[in-house]
Amino acid sequence: MTRTKFFILLCVFICISSIASADEWTQNKFDSRRAITNNSNPPERLKPLHELMPLTSNEGIIRRVKISGDIKAIALTFDMCELDTRTTGCDMNVINFLREKRIPATLFMGGKWMRTHSERVKQIMNESIFEIGNHNWSHGNCALLSPEGLNAQILWTQAEYELIREEAGIDSGDAVPLLFRLPYGRSSENALKIIAELGLRVIQWDVAAEAGDNTNLNRAKSNAKRVAKMTRPGSILLFHANLVPKGTVNLLREVVNILENDGYIFVSVSELLRMGEPETVRDGYFTSPKDNYMLDKKFGIDGTGRRTRFTGKP
Ligand SMILES: [Zn+2]
Repeated sequence: MTRTKFFILLCVFICISSIASADEWTQNKFDSRRAITNNSNPPERLKPLHELMPLTSNEGIIRRVKISGDIKAIALTFDMCELDTRTTGCDMNVINFLREKRIPATLFMGGKWMRTHSERVKQIMNESIFEIGNHNWSHGNCALLSPEGLNAQILWTQAEYELIREEAGIDSGDAVPLLFRLPYGRSSENALKIIAELGLRVIQWDVAAEAGDNTNLNRAKSNAKRVAKMTRPGSILLFHANLVPKGTVNLLREVVNILENDGYIFVSVSELLRMGEPETVRDGYFTSPKDNYMLDKKFGIDGTGRRTRFTGKP
């Protein structure tokens, strides 16, 4: 083989392999839980450069959307969060399944989680099927945080989002998350007022999908039937993509399969909101009112896993 031929072949090889790897998000060790040392420091920027206008009304907590017409649209949402005291993972099986099937989804990310998985977040930001929402900095419980603490949990997350976008070289403009998800689904009238003043709409769910571990395929199958039964046009489904709980992809595969066969289409939460009127409540819950109150005492003093109050003061 001549040198020229060799170099041409080498170039072709490099070209082909770079195309293949550009589309393949292979799982690596940094996607695991507790893969890196926990960092409970605040973000490098404590407030986003772009602050949203306050909402004109404090509409409450959106659980689903009443769709005008007979479109069978629903939104799949995935929480990606971690406490102040430990790191969680990034469920690449879930992310790659959504990418492979080109299913739009809304991902509610904690700001601290974003920092732990900043390389993944950069990829996700460049992927058009994904919409990113705010899920507090370190999973602070909105019913328990002080006003200052809640402000910081939200604004630190908006700021971290901006920082990662800048690092990724994405022309940021005024793009910051517009949707908010309550950790533990917990809220208070005061919290709703603060969140509305910060310009974010509160999105919960009417179908809590996982109900524990779905590693076992039979369990995932029967769980999927339950989820499909609860789903209606305009539903918002709650899943996780942080490897807590486990086996989510098994359930997701089954749910998508059943719902697709049933004529459903998948859209982002923002898209779903454009299709009808939101159905709201004033107090967040999983499947029935107050079923999440018992979580108030489980994760530190105010949901972040800490024994001391999260004040937002570095
Ligand atoms: Zn969460």
